Amino acid sequence: MTVRNEGLDELEVWIDQDLCTGDGICVQYAPEVFELDIDGLAYVKSADDELLQDKGATTPVPLPLLSDVRDSAKECPGDCIHVRRVADKVEVYGPDAE
Ligand code: SF4
Repeated sequence: MTVRNEGLDELEVWIDQDLCTGDGICVQYAPEVFELDIDGLAYVKSADDELLQDKGATTPVPLPLLSDVRDSAKECPGDCIHVRRVADKVEVYGPDAE
């Protein structure tokens, strides 16, 4: 069973593919959450491993992977990984975080 970060601190992540350089750093950090598609761009995946290719698609951040996802957002050369609170959509890691 996957443990999730539930409650007020529940987080979700999305990628702005328009800015993705395709270097795959995020996939190295958190392959459970990110994947490079054949178009060379990174996408988030659903909990059941399905690539989510709709623009702005989000997936929940599993609590055990929070630090990996946070580091992905910090290291992303495209500045295009956005981690935000589910409750109020406030970005906590990424280019739009305070
Ligand atoms: S780290 Fe950022 S720029 Fe690199 S593949 Fe992932 S989303 Fe794209």
